[in-house]
Amino acid sequence: MNIQRLSDIVISQIAAGEVIERPASVVKELVENALDAGATSIQVSSTQGGRRLIRVSDNGSGIRSNEVALALTRHATSKLRTTDDLNQLVTLGFRGEALSSIAAVSRITLTTRHRDEKIGTEIRLEGGALIRHQPAGAPTGTVISVEDLFFNTPARLKFLKKEATEKRYISTIITRYAMAYPSIRFLYIQDEREVFRTSGSGQLADVIVKSFGIDTFRQMLEVNSMETPRNHRPEIHVHGYTTQSSLNRGDRNQIALFINGRWIQDSRLTYAIVQAYHNLIAPNRYPITVLMVNMPTDELDVNVHPTKAEVRFRQPDHVFAAIQRAVRETIMNAQAAGDTRFQSVDITQQIPPGGANNIWHSNVQLNLDLADDTAPRSISQQDERFEADIAIPSGPDKPRKPRSLPPLRVIGQVGAMYIVAEGPAGMYLIDQNSAHTRVLYEALLEDYTRDEVVTQTLQTGETIEVTAGSAQTIEQYLILLKRLGILLEPFGPTTFRIQSVPHILVNTSRRLQVTIQAILEQIPITSTPEESTATLAQAIAQQAAIRSGQILSPEQMTDIIRKLERCEQPHNAPDGRATLIHLTGDQLAREFARGT
Ligand code: ADP
Ligand code: MG
Repeated sequence: MNIQRLSDIVISQIAAGEVIERPASVVKELVENALDAGATSIQVSSTQGGRRLIRVSDNGSGIRSNEVALALTRHATSKLRTTDDLNQLVTLGFRGEALSSIAAVSRITLTTRHRDEKIGTEIRLEGGALIRHQPAGAPTGTVISVEDLFFNTPARLKFLKKEATEKRYISTIITRYAMAYPSIRFLYIQDEREVFRTSGSGQLADVIVKSFGIDTFRQMLEVNSMETPRNHRPEIHVHGYTTQSSLNRGDRNQIALFINGRWIQDSRLTYAIVQAYHNLIAPNRYPITVLMVNMPTDELDVNVHPTKAEVRFRQPDHVFAAIQRAVRETIMNAQAAGDTRFQSVDITQQIPPGGANNIWHSNVQLNLDLADDTAPRSISQQDERFEADIAIPSGPDKPRKPRSLPPLRVIGQVGAMYIVAEGPAGMYLIDQNSAHTRVLYEALLEDYTRDEVVTQTLQTGETIEVTAGSAQTIEQYLILLKRLGILLEPFGPTTFRIQSVPHILVNTSRRLQVTIQAILEQIPITSTPEESTATLAQAIAQQAAIRSGQILSPEQMTDIIRKLERCEQPHNAPDGRATLIHLTGDQLAREFARGT
C-alpha cells in the first residue's frame, strides 16, 4: 500500500475506539454534555442494553442552529480555547471528541434548540455520513438518539458483554452522576420501564437512598472534613457517606469517588478508603462509599485519558492522606460514640454536691437504681423496646451524657398525665408532656448541631397551603427547616410539598399536614433564621411529644425518665413550664407531721 491520508470518517472511527468503549460510554458522554449545558433535568432511555437505542434528553442551553453541524465534527468544542484553560476547567467535557466519535460508530439523530433561538435543528448522521440536516420545532434543550451502536465496527460489537451486564454499566453511570449532581433531576428508563429517578432535592443522601436503598443508607456514616490550606498544601474538602464497618461487600465496585464533580476511577485513592478500614473489616471485604472530593482546579490535570476517568494530581500524597483521614475519622468517631454507650458508668462521678442532708449516696436505693446503669445491656434493650413502641430514635451511636438528675424509679402514672417516680431524695411527680418535650428538644438540637437529624422521606406527596405572606417567610427558612428534618419543596406560589419530616413526627396522632402547619406557624417573623433554630426545634418537639391524656406503658415511662435524667435542663420544658415537682423526704414528713 502507498501512503495516503486517512479519511475523516476513518480517523473518527479509530478515535471513537478510545472514547466509546461500550453503550455506557455513550451515556456518560451525553450526560456530561447535558450537565455542561446547564440542564436541570436529564432523561436517559435505553433499549437492549443500549445496543438498539440510547436517548439522552436535557433541558440545557441547546446548540445554536449554525453550530450544530460543527459540534459533530472532531475537536470541536465550546469549552476550551487554549491549553491554559485546562488548568481552570469547570466543565466535564473539553476534548471535543465525544459527539464525533459517537456519530462515527452509530446512527445518531440530534434535535436541539438554543434558548436564544426560535426554531430548532435536527441532524442525522449514519456512520459519520450526513443523512439529514434541517430546521425543526423543538423545546429548548437537546435530544440525542443513538441507534445501532457499532453497527459499522463489528469487532467492537463482538466485545460487548451480555445485555444484562451492559445495562448494569449504564445504570452505574447514571446513578454515579446523580450522586455527583443531586440538585439535577435524573430519570432513567430501561426498555420502556422507569428504573431510576431522583428528585433534584440537592441532597446527596436522597440519591444514595435511591441508589443503595434505605436499609443500606441507615448503616452509612456521613463524612465531612475540610483540610485547610497550609504550607502550599491545597484546601481539600471531602464529603459523602461511607458504611459502618459492619456493612461491607466482597467487591470494591461500591466505592465511588468524585473529584470536583467528575467521577473518576483511581485504584490508589480507592485503596486510601479501603485502608481506612484497616483492622475493622476483614481483608478482601470492602465498604460502600461515596465521596465527593473538592479542591482547586489547578491542583489536578484532567487531560490524562480520552475517557476523562483518570486524573493526575499535583500533590497526590496530600489527596490520598486527606481522603484516608476523612474516612478513618468518621469511622472512629462513630465507634467511639457507640462504645461509650456500652461502657460501665463510674458511680463516684454521679454523686451531686449536696452535703449531709442529701441522702442520695447513702441510700440503699442507690445500688438498686444504679443496677440499671451498670447493666447497660438491659438499658439498651429497654431503649429499643421503647423506641419500637413510640418511635423515638435515640441514635444508638451517641455518647451517653452526664446525669443531671438522680436515678429515678418509676412507680406509675396518675391521671394519664403525670409519672410518679421515687428517687433517693424523695418523690417526683413528672409532667409527661413537658418532660418528653424537653427530652426531644435537647435531642433534636444536638442532632441539628451535628447535622444528623433522622428523617423519614414521604412518598405520598402531601402538600400544604399557606398564605402568600407566610410563603415568603417560609422560603427564607427552607434551609434551616431542612436541617431540622423538615424538607419542603416549593410547589406553586403558596404551596409546598412535604418531602421529608423528622422521624420523631411520624407516629404522632395528628395528620402530618396539620402538624407541619402548626410548626410553620411558629416561625418568628422578626428574627433571623439563625435565631429561630431554638424556636422551631421547640415547636417540633412539642408536636412530637407524648400528650397529656395518653396512657403510657411502664417501659415508655421508664424511657422518658431515663432520658430526662440526662438532659441538660431537666427541670423545665423548653417553653419554661416545669417538668417535675420534687417532694423531699423531709417535706413529706412535715406534711404528715411525723416525729413532732
Ligand atoms: P466536548 O464536550 O468535549 O466539548 P463534545 O463532542 O461532547 O465535546 O461536544 C461538542 C460540543 O457540542 C460541546 O462543546 C457543546 O458546545 C456542544 N454540545 C454537545 N452536547 C450538548 C448538549 N447536550 N447541550 C448543549 N450543547 C451541547
Ligand atoms: Mg462532551
